[in-house]
Amino acid sequence: MSIHWFPGHMAKARRQIEEKCKQVDIVIELLDARLPLASRNPMIDEITGHKPRLVLFTKGDMADESLTNEWISYFTQLGVSVLPIDAKTGKGVPKIASTCEEILEPLFVSRKKKGIVSKRMRAMVLGIPNVGKSSLINRLAGRHATQTGDRPGVTKAQQWIRVGKKLELLDTPGILWPKFEDPDTGMRLAMSGAIKDDILPTEEIALYTLKYVSFHYPKLLEERYSVVIQEQTPVELLDEIGKKRGCLMRGGEIDWDKAADIVMGDLRSGRLGRITLESPSDYEEIGNEEND
Ligand code: GDP
Repeated sequence: MSIHWFPGHMAKARRQIEEKCKQVDIVIELLDARLPLASRNPMIDEITGHKPRLVLFTKGDMADESLTNEWISYFTQLGVSVLPIDAKTGKGVPKIASTCEEILEPLFVSRKKKGIVSKRMRAMVLGIPNVGKSSLINRLAGRHATQTGDRPGVTKAQQWIRVGKKLELLDTPGILWPKFEDPDTGMRLAMSGAIKDDILPTEEIALYTLKYVSFHYPKLLEERYSVVIQEQTPVELLDEIGKKRGCLMRGGEIDWDKAADIVMGDLRSGRLGRITLESPSDYEEIGNEEND
């Protein structure tokens, strides 16, 4: 999580993904259900070429269910297969192999016609830091995972993890850099905890969070902090929360840093409730984000 993405890192990450891509039939792209487009690197298509793809929404347990459904429709309309999963409890995880099979069926049929019989599907997991790649790989590997060992032609000692009878997974994920040149995207990533707080001050992220949550989920703030959401500014709200939580400095002033840490900790752990940080309608006016 302490990676700062400089052009050199991006080029290296890209090379590594391109290398892994050559070894697999399908790419499993992880997006955070709370911010599916903001957590998506827009260069994914370019980097993975035309590999078949399955999108998984991670952390669906922390997201607003109705918006998750909207997002699933959004991606489905684009022709992308999506599965929501919770890597912590394993919900949705058993469907991954069968969905990969559905996606790859046409490819495997055409290979068969050419006399190539593939016994197993090979996949790699890919996504930005903190999206849940390791959690998912560990869960898929499970206790009974068989590591099939090195293969000829694989330069690094990569391991294949067997998932059921038909799927094999590269044991190391592809790590994509988050895209945060656009201020809204940056803020959403920061709210979710995907980018380090030293890029943006916690206080600024907390004020943005309070503005967003008081507009979209006022009840959750009222329940968590025993406040009444009226017409307060985010600054007044942070002040109120600080007071309620006893975040005081010497002299009785509110310790904003402490109050901001409380708000962000509550949001990122899910204690504040199920909150989604962007909706498909946020993107309607901007047009196709994929192009930037
Ligand atoms: P990676 O950097 O992409 O490998 O992400 P990790 O697998 O290390 O996960 C980052 C954090 O998110 C960890 O604290 C995980 O416990 C948490 N996490 C991952 N997947 C889920 C999920 O589906 N639900 C919830 N609530 N937390 C998750």
